[in-house]
Amino acid sequence: MAKTYNIAIDGPAGAGKSTIAKTTAFELGFVYVDTGAMYRAMALYFLRQGIAKEDEKAIEEACREIEVSIRYEDGVQQVLLNGENVSGLIRTEEVSNMTSATSVYKSVRQKLLELQRRLAATSNVIMDGRDIGTCVLPDAQTKIYLTASSHVRALRRHKELLEKGETCNLEEIEQDIIERDYRDMHRDIAPLKQAEDAVFLDSSRMTIRQVVDGIINAARERGLTL
Ligand code: C5P
Repeated sequence: MAKTYNIAIDGPAGAGKSTIAKTTAFELGFVYVDTGAMYRAMALYFLRQGIAKEDEKAIEEACREIEVSIRYEDGVQQVLLNGENVSGLIRTEEVSNMTSATSVYKSVRQKLLELQRRLAATSNVIMDGRDIGTCVLPDAQTKIYLTASSHVRALRRHKELLEKGETCNLEEIEQDIIERDYRDMHRDIAPLKQAEDAVFLDSSRMTIRQVVDGIINAARERGLTL
């Protein structure tokens, strides 16, 4: 089988990774893999079981009962938890916080690593997350570290929630984002950090078009011939 071309995008919450990765995948004909959705599906299971986020033993046991898989509907990734499509249930603040609290555990990370590597080995993927360039796909041909200031990221999230008709407080959102990033950057296993060979992009003052072009150019400089 021909070797696949992989683009890894890591960065903190709300940096625009999924919007950027989706657009880039569409333009390059790549498969977009959202790894955060997989961690979110696992967190939803722990919440449903009433497991406390501190209870590592119960989480480890629960991991044995979980099967996460993905499929694509009209090109959009759907995440399945034990066969149930939970894509519409995993974007709440409650799930976000449970996800960053439980993604610190080895049993949780181990569970998803194989699935993520298998996807990258079978298709050209653009995969986003926190540890893709550093741990999951250390040999990805192009690695991007995408960030933005916490204020800009909070503003984007605030706008998104308002558009959905939800009431929310900008300061609380920014505080939540800062706490989530801190946990993701300071955990023992696979913390969020820029891979040494990653291209650094700060999207605070960039348009979506500029970021997508930045990624496509970086990939072309690194052997992508599409
Ligand atoms: O990207 P998203 O905000 O959906 O990720 C939710 C949470 O999942 C992150 O805050 C992080 O704790 C966890 N995550 C991770 N490793 C990844 C992707 C997500 O630990 N590769």
